[in-house]
Amino acid sequence: MSSLVSLVTAAITLISTFLVSIFGYGVDIADTTKAYRERVAGLTFYENTIETALPQTIVYDMVSEHFDSPLPDGKTEKKAIIIGFDGGRADALDAFSVENGGSKMLLESGGKAYIAYAGGANFPLPIIQATSTAPGWCSILTGKWGLETGIINNGITKAVEPKTLLTTLVEDGKADQTMFQVSWGGHFTSDNSTYKLEKAYCEENSLNVVFGKNPDDPGTHASMLAAVTEPDCPDFIMGIYEHMDAAGHGTGYTVNNPDYQQAYIDSETCAGELIAAIESRPTYEQEDWLIVITSDHGGKWSGHGTLYIQERMIFIVTNKEITQ
Ligand SMILES: [Zn+2]
Repeated sequence: MSSLVSLVTAAITLISTFLVSIFGYGVDIADTTKAYRERVAGLTFYENTIETALPQTIVYDMVSEHFDSPLPDGKTEKKAIIIGFDGGRADALDAFSVENGGSKMLLESGGKAYIAYAGGANFPLPIIQATSTAPGWCSILTGKWGLETGIINNGITKAVEPKTLLTTLVEDGKADQTMFQVSWGGHFTSDNSTYKLEKAYCEENSLNVVFGKNPDDPGTHASMLAAVTEPDCPDFIMGIYEHMDAAGHGTGYTVNNPDYQQAYIDSETCAGELIAAIESRPTYEQEDWLIVITSDHGGKWSGHGTLYIQERMIFIVTNKEITQ
């Protein structure tokens, strides 16, 4: 029986390699819905299942509730950070595999990992927004789906309302400063970028919201590290690493792709460095930090945006339990 399995696996690998040689990108025919479900079910660190996946908008609720809840004894300041792994699939989270990785650090010190969904509805219901970058991060930052924000796909500029946490936390006096660090122009720099109008609103109203555009992931990482090591660092920091999405588009979103696996390791390493820097802050003991690692969407073959389960399920790893 096991020799038959080996033979089938070898045949699938051979056919996939053949297809890649024709199409030039990551076609992994072993990446079936069934295989995906089995892998996710085997990841025992998840608190929930695909069937009970949380909406990705819950990240907004987590951050809002963090800033609204009273300070614990001995703490004098609220802080929160969202570390984004763009294009990270739920089955790619190999939380304990990366030494000094962000997820491992969080889970080993009492944190929790959850399966969440992008697209506006859990599998197998029809999606109501593309499983893509702009809708994913916009739902995380506004707590709303595309029907309310208008961001049902990339390349759409959101009206000022509904505003993101970046702006509302400052306007409501819950944060002195917030910060958004990215390298993709589609967030707030290109003509049809998502937050172009919100960024202009912040500038017109002299709101202390930093929109940081970096040339690439190393640039984003340097900006993030600089932010968390500042004595008076922003109260809410959001940063997005593109390693996984770049590898997925390049050679395939699948855990069978070594490039995609390496991109995951690189993202975890960045997250680990950020968390270590936060924990080394001289004022860390007086600060109440919410730390979240999450992704905007998954992917299948070399793309994303549609309703495949591999595109829809994402992860949330956090140092605080989600209570709802
Ligand atoms: Zn993305």
